[in-house]
Amino acid sequence: MSASFVTRFAPSPTGPLHRGHAFSALTAFSAARRASGRFLLRIEDIDATRCRPAHEAAILDDLAWLGLEWEQPVRRQSEHLADYEAALETLRARGLVYRCFRTRKDLAQAALSAPHGPAEAFRGGPIHPNEEDRWLSEGKPFAWRLSLDAARETLGGFHRLRFQEKGEGPNGEHGRIEAKPERAGDVVLARKDVGVAYHLACVVDDALQGVTDVIRGADLFEACHIQRLLQALLDLPTPVYRHHRLILDASGERLAKRKGGETLGTLRAAGVTAAQLRAELGFAP
Ligand code: GLU
Repeated sequence: MSASFVTRFAPSPTGPLHRGHAFSALTAFSAARRASGRFLLRIEDIDATRCRPAHEAAILDDLAWLGLEWEQPVRRQSEHLADYEAALETLRARGLVYRCFRTRKDLAQAALSAPHGPAEAFRGGPIHPNEEDRWLSEGKPFAWRLSLDAARETLGGFHRLRFQEKGEGPNGEHGRIEAKPERAGDVVLARKDVGVAYHLACVVDDALQGVTDVIRGADLFEACHIQRLLQALLDLPTPVYRHHRLILDASGERLAKRKGGETLGTLRAAGVTAAQLRAELGFAP
């Protein structure tokens, strides 16, 4: 089996797939075929509060209907929490993460008083050890956040962090790109409720699965800045990134699962064939 090109489609089973997912999955699948490489499917179901087995079943069914084939076994993130915990432990042992006890309300207030950055670009830093001990003894829930200050010190700055974009980011980003983790702030790597968060699970899995080329929508381009940093801190290889354009709806808005409306299921029920949809999205029928 060729291991020189390995890509993946990594849906979160929080709702039905739509045309945009079909485009993404077909883009990755076709690229793997062209390169005589491997196409993997990964189910990103760490958030048990939002993911449903019924959505996962529908996703597998839609992808098979589209004509895609993927390797078995499918990696289901909820079955590999120990891998993410081990990565978190590595970061914890090196003092690169800190406990964050802030609630959503605290964070919303902090964002209001710092209107220059998005709420995401949070840089709170650890709290005083006395207070931390008190809250721990009271059983107050906490998340683990990456400390950008500690990361910068460990790596001697972020200037050497680069990644290769072979597709295009939302603002035409292409080629060799300098990662700017500051843009994301001290991201949450382990959520209070779930024990892990997207960025950490994603980089661990891309490495464990030997993914060489990450193919996904341009809406995830921004994630590279922090994912590249995590790869450096965890000593993981950096894949090549190929972000693709987003499929927009008739009014020019991006398709989102939560908006309801058309899904692959409703298209299928309306009699659209997989060949028609593939052709419409620019793939051989
Ligand atoms: N699970 C993510 C999503 O459904 C995709 C993550 C990725 O491709 O890195 O948006």
